[in-house]
This record gives sequence, C-alpha cells and structure tokens, in this order.
Amino acid sequence: MKIAVYPGSFDPITNGHIDIILRVSKLVDKLYVGVLNNNAKQLAFDADERVAMIHASLPEELKKNIEVVAFSGLLIDFAKQVQASLIIRGLRAVTDFEYEFQMALTNKSLLPEAETLFIPTNTTFLFLSSSMVKEVARYGGNIDGMVPKEIKDIVLGRLKKD
Ligand code: ADP
Repeated sequence: MKIAVYPGSFDPITNGHIDIILRVSKLVDKLYVGVLNNNAKQLAFDADERVAMIHASLPEELKKNIEVVAFSGLLIDFAKQVQASLIIRGLRAVTDFEYEFQMALTNKSLLPEAETLFIPTNTTFLFLSSSMVKEVARYGGNIDGMVPKEIKDIVLGRLKKD
C-alpha cells in the first residue's frame, strides 16, 4: 500500500494546494494531508479551522482515500505514525526550491526510508500562495479562483477589515 503525506500550513487551503492533492490522490492508495500545528508562524486560522476548511473543499468521492489530520512536532514523526513512505511537496518557482531542497535532505537524513516527491504546480496557480490570498482578502479584493468556493466567505469573514 502506497501511503503519502502532504504537509503544510494551509492557512488557508488554496486552489494550488487542492490541485496537488487531487493529482497525488490518483498516484497513491492513501494520502494524509498533514496540517502543521507548531505555532511558529502568525496564522489567521487555528489548526481545527484549517482542517475543517480542507474537509469542506474536498470532493466527496475522494474522501475515502484522503485523510486530513493536524499534527505538531516533526514531519518525519508524523510520517512514521501514519506509515507514510512518501512526502509530497508542491513547487512553484525556483524561489521555493532552495528551502524545499534543504528540508527534503534534512528529512531524508532523519528518516532514510521516506522519499520526498516534488510536484510542479499547475501554471494556473504559479503565483498563488496562502499569504497572497490573505493579503488580497484583507483589503477586500476578489479571491474567486484562488480558494475553493466552499471556504471563500470564511476567509473573507476572517480577514476583511471593516
Ligand atoms: P508551508 O508553510 O509548509 O510552506 P504551505 O501551506 O504554504 O505550507 O504549502 C504547503 C505545500 O504546498 C508546500 O509544498 C508548497 O510549496 C505547496 N504549495 C503552496 N502553494 C502552491 C501552489 N500554488 N501550487 C503548488 N504547490 C503549492
């Protein structure tokens, strides 16, 4: 059984993340979307909210092989816990590369039996990030097409300034 984990902050989930999830779910038997709960970053949504938004955004028919779980601590410990041998990361521009490469090599040294797989973004989502979504939402811009329609109002409701 091929088990993968796709970790991230998902603050909030974007259509770029969803695209990666849908593509990877076709390649593996089980995909864990791991929502990092380390309190390291200033986040707009707590872990439960981020998990709930991902749930709300996933097509019903895919939920049987995708599980959305919050985790804290090291990714490799989470991967071990769910018996995942694949770590999925999305790559946008070269600017993602250095950090992602460093993290992949670190994870490889900590858990040699797991492999990191980089999935290139769909060009439609090349410039899409959770922080860009938050910035646009904060100032009342249109976030249609950036986040799943199921969570648009939640995102605007949290971020929009009066
Ligand atoms: P992190 O805080 O771990 O960087 P993010 O929630 O920002 O988490 O992203 C999770 C993963 O999704 C990362 O591998 C990131 O590169 C990838 N990702 C983010 N946005 C996109 C996008 N638009 N297209 C493809 N992959 C993306």
